Amino acid sequence: MPRCNAVGCNWRHETHHCALCGDGDSRHVSADCPRRFACILGHGTKTGATSSITQSGLRVSSEGRLGPGIYFATIPTARVIGKWRNEGEATVLYHCEVNLGKVKTMDGLAEDKSGSWRANYDSCHGMHPPWGGRTEPFREWVVKSPSQVKIVGLEICDGTYDGHIHLPGCWINISGRVTFGGNITAGTMVLNGAHVTLR
Ligand SMILES: [Zn+2]
Ligand SMILES: [Zn+2]
Repeated sequence: MPRCNAVGCNWRHETHHCALCGDGDSRHVSADCPRRFACILGHGTKTGATSSITQSGLRVSSEGRLGPGIYFATIPTARVIGKWRNEGEATVLYHCEVNLGKVKTMDGLAEDKSGSWRANYDSCHGMHPPWGGRTEPFREWVVKSPSQVKIVGLEICDGTYDGHIHLPGCWINISGRVTFGGNITAGTMVLNGAHVTLR
C-alpha cells in the first residue's frame, strides 16, 4: 500500500488527515501541525447540574489513560461522547482554543497513566479504544495546565442545567430541550431550534 505524505507517520494508509487543520492529504502529522498552538478542540463533560460554568472552569483530571491533565477530543467526537453520557442533566461541550505546544505522540493505543510525557512535553496525543458511543478508536489530547486552554464557546443540549453560567465574550449554542435555573452571561447566544425553559 502506498504511504501517506505525512513526515513521521507510521500508519499504513494512503492519505493523511490532519485532525487539527483538516487537511485531507497532509504532509505533516498533527503533532507538527502549524495550528497546534491555537487549535479548536472539545471537552465534553457531565457538569454537576448545580455547579457554575466559568472561564476558569476546566479542571485538571488527576488521572486518565495519559496521566493527569485536561483531556480533549475533536469536536464531533466530544459531541458523541457527551450525548452518550447524558443522563438527564444537560450535556455540556466546551469549545476551546488549545495551545498544545510541544506534543508527545503515543504509539497506537498505548497508555501513559503516570503521565511521564509531562517531563519533556506540553501535551500528549494518543488513540483511545472504542468507548462512549464511538465504535472506532478516536484521538485524544491531554494538556498539562489550564494556562494552555481558552474557552471560546459552549454547546448545551437536552436536559436541565441549574447552575450559573458566566462566560462573557464566549458564544453559547443551545439545542434540544433545555431547562435553565441559573443566570446566564455570554457574548452571544444561539438558539439552534431549541426549546428553552427558564425557571
Ligand atoms: Zn499518515
Ligand atoms: Zn495540520
